[in-house]
Amino acid sequence: MSIKYHNFDWRCSITEMPQATEKCLHCCGSDGKAKDVYKSESDARQRAQYIERTRHGTRLYVYRCPFGNGFHLTKKIGRG
Ligand SMILES: [Zn+2]
Repeated sequence: MSIKYHNFDWRCSITEMPQATEKCLHCCGSDGKAKDVYKSESDARQRAQYIERTRHGTRLYVYRCPFGNGFHLTKKIGRG
């Protein structure tokens, strides 16, 4: 019996982390700063998964910007 996943390190598998390249002009987070905008839902989801892996206990949700600027991440469901 061998442990197949012994050498697996997800940190090595992510070479290009999706980065938000823009800030939304209309939306700001609970800290009052402009929210990051992701151009596609999959980009936002990848970023969310990365954050969830690096910050244990953090759960993030992807939602569409209500102003049509792309996609945002939020820790709360139903609100940005
Ligand atoms: Zn927005």
